[in-house]
Amino acid sequence: MTDYTKQLVEQRRELHQWPEEGWTEFWTTNYIVTKLRSWGYEVLLGTKIINPEQVFGRNEKLVQEGIKNALTRGVSQSFIDETEGYTGCVALLDTGKEGPTTAFRFDIDCVCVNETDNPEHKPNKEGFRSQHAGFMHACGHDSHISIGLTLAHWIAEHKDELKGKFKIVFQPAEEGVRGASAIAASGIVDDADYFLGSHISFMADTGEIVAAPYGLLCTSKYDVTFKGKPAHAGKEPNAGRNALAAACNAVVQMMGIPRHGGGMTRINVGTLRAGEGRNVIPSSAHMALEVRGETSSINDYMAENVRNIVEGIAKGFDVSYEISQMGAAVDFTNDKELSEMLIEVAKTVPGINKIRPDGNFGGSEDISVLGKRVQAHGGKAAFFICGADRAAGHHQGSFDIDEGAFKQAFDMYAGMAKKLNG
Ligand SMILES: [Zn+2]
Repeated sequence: MTDYTKQLVEQRRELHQWPEEGWTEFWTTNYIVTKLRSWGYEVLLGTKIINPEQVFGRNEKLVQEGIKNALTRGVSQSFIDETEGYTGCVALLDTGKEGPTTAFRFDIDCVCVNETDNPEHKPNKEGFRSQHAGFMHACGHDSHISIGLTLAHWIAEHKDELKGKFKIVFQPAEEGVRGASAIAASGIVDDADYFLGSHISFMADTGEIVAAPYGLLCTSKYDVTFKGKPAHAGKEPNAGRNALAAACNAVVQMMGIPRHGGGMTRINVGTLRAGEGRNVIPSSAHMALEVRGETSSINDYMAENVRNIVEGIAKGFDVSYEISQMGAAVDFTNDKELSEMLIEVAKTVPGINKIRPDGNFGGSEDISVLGKRVQAHGGKAAFFICGADRAAGHHQGSFDIDEGAFKQAFDMYAGMAKKLNG
């Protein structure tokens, strides 16, 4: 008998040591695929699961670095070729018996923070800290991968008791809500009758389950570049085209976009970098910004205003501009049937002692893009929270999660698989 509890912790600790940021998870993808294939899964990679036209926020230079790192760490060139330069994978298993197609999603990327060197921090104390300076699994996606893999292993070992088909999506680049759109647009989850995903910890402690978190915000992320013309600031400023002034005006106007009467909106220009030197008319400016909205249409309203402002400002300052979409998530509501089923399963899981029907998520998660896609094709979808005690908040260098909670998360998935495909 496989010791799933042990497997959950061991895999997580291996994965924790080599965290990779979005779209560079080549070592991680190889780790996942090797295990899946050893358990008899057919695994899809590259453009079979990624639509390159919907790839957001993928930096070719970082991708090449990720490939180089993976090769150094023993990944084969033939595996890299199989990925076509895109990370993530989808595992397929057909039980051979008539039944529903159930898809699960697990995200695999890390956060760009340094893991603390505090000796009391558990990964330091027990020797599994990040070996990848500047990167850390500080959101718990290492545990997501491990739970997904253990679920895959369990499904393979219990194939005879199950019916229908399984699709297990290991999604790259969740941070910055970049990866889900490309997978959704590939059509790989379109035939799913059921779709499930979760986040660990976040707003719930060990022993808690939140069956239907609400307040998943719709968001669009953009990079905006203004390009002007440099000139001597004393001799002939008139000959220059001031990209910095254009960007500053754009920021001010964006902050003044009228709020929407239909629901909550947000806008943030998170970075603005511009200019070359004190006595040069600044010829380039780069902004990273995001908008959010309570619903897709309110988010679209914010995004359209941003685009109009950029276009108008560029005209006014006689500079050129470029807008690139860097990420997207949509609003999402669980199908009631699945939320109720999650509650039923939670009641049977040892260690779960607090079942919350709902709770405010108050952030964005690009699982919403995949969930909405499934719903649009007639399937049912749900996102839930598996509680876990944490040291420090998510995305911090001292973040850590209670490994004791992994088994409960795994039991939730295995329980759902039995209910849906048993
Ligand atoms: Zn996360």
